[in-house]
Amino acid sequence: MNKYKHLFFDLDRTLWDFDTNNTETFRELYAHFQLEALGVEEVTAFYKKYQKINLALWDAYKKAEITKKDLNFQRFYQSLLLYTIDNAELATLMGAYYVKESPLKTHLYPHTLETLEKLHRKYQMHIITNGFDEVQYIKMENSGLMRFFDKIITSEAAGYKKPDKRIFEYALQQAGATVQESIIIGDDPEADIYGACLVGMDQIWVKHLPLKPELTRATYSVNELKEITAIL
Ligand SMILES: [Mg+2]
Repeated sequence: MNKYKHLFFDLDRTLWDFDTNNTETFRELYAHFQLEALGVEEVTAFYKKYQKINLALWDAYKKAEITKKDLNFQRFYQSLLLYTIDNAELATLMGAYYVKESPLKTHLYPHTLETLEKLHRKYQMHIITNGFDEVQYIKMENSGLMRFFDKIITSEAAGYKKPDKRIFEYALQQAGATVQESIIIGDDPEADIYGACLVGMDQIWVKHLPLKPELTRATYSVNELKEITAIL
């Protein structure tokens, strides 16, 4: 009855609670670099401004207009500039701090481990992520996710980022899976759902970000991870 053999999970905002983990890192970063004394109003507002800048830079990075190094430097440099702090050295240090500290955070969405535990008995499971290699492995190791997954496909290793269909083709090849017996589970309407559509892979859209417009037509959609055990 069940046609699926391989489950491909996205990591950030699907399993690993990116926003909770990031907010925590930002609070520590704000204290560590004594940003209040430098005139940065308060951490929540600072984080909001950073997010806007980061999003635009990620778009540029996805289109290969800037490098990973540019992205990590510019998101802090530009955020500081909003407070008329023109300090490249500080931005570099903050970027390094962020990349080192944020993947050590371990908040997962509710019921993540128990859901993966159940599915692990029935399926071969893999990760397919656009995140940076060096941080994705640390996140998975620290939050107890590593043991569930067979192949970990990063955009860096594949050479393409979701929604490019070539990262999905690469993932299928690495896993030794056919598209018909595979399904993706992800939060991002464009990267995960649209991307999987391009190769004809079924999708479960996990709606962890309620702000995204509901234009997406996924094979299945759920509000919480634990609901996927009713589908699979
Ligand atoms: Mg995601």
